[in-house]
Amino acid sequence: MAVCSKTDLPLAWTVETAKDNETRSVAPLLDRLHALGIDPETCAMDKGYDTAPAYDACAERGVLPVIPLRQTPAVKRGDDKPPVCEHGEWRFAGADRKRNACKWRCPTGECKPASAWIKADRLHPLIPRETLRWKGIYRRRASVERAFGRLKNEWALAPLRVRRIERVQLHADLTILAQLSSARVRSDDALLAA
Ligand SMILES: [Zn+2]
Repeated sequence: MAVCSKTDLPLAWTVETAKDNETRSVAPLLDRLHALGIDPETCAMDKGYDTAPAYDACAERGVLPVIPLRQTPAVKRGDDKPPVCEHGEWRFAGADRKRNACKWRCPTGECKPASAWIKADRLHPLIPRETLRWKGIYRRRASVERAFGRLKNEWALAPLRVRRIERVQLHADLTILAQLSSARVRSDDALLAA
């Protein structure tokens, strides 16, 4: 599910079997959002999405990924860390979306050159994991957990009473549409009352 972190409401969803790799769902979900006129600036996902298809899906659609790193060999080597010089660890000094790179600067500015551009990739995203912005956005990923919890506990998404993917898909669609309709009625009521 793609969930809005302001309302905790589902915006787009797919139903797959447990053996399907969920990181393949990122591109179709972002495309569905775009078709609805929703172009998120950032997308927070858990560690399970720390794979090339998720980063590629975001990069191709101008969405900034906020995903924690899995302990891959490159991460164990520390390839994700900021540059270091004799003056200490370099500081993040801004991102440039057009260049698709982040600027890092020597902490004292004594190095020549005192800054360098690092191309964005999985290890060095445009919103660096060292920044407060990254931490703040990642914290809002809790929205998707709340949304699943609410659908399962309050809207009877689970336990499933049907078998076969088509029927489960229909059950999920109806459940989510019921929740969204109810939210819509409440927001209309709130507007009328205001
Ligand atoms: Zn230096």
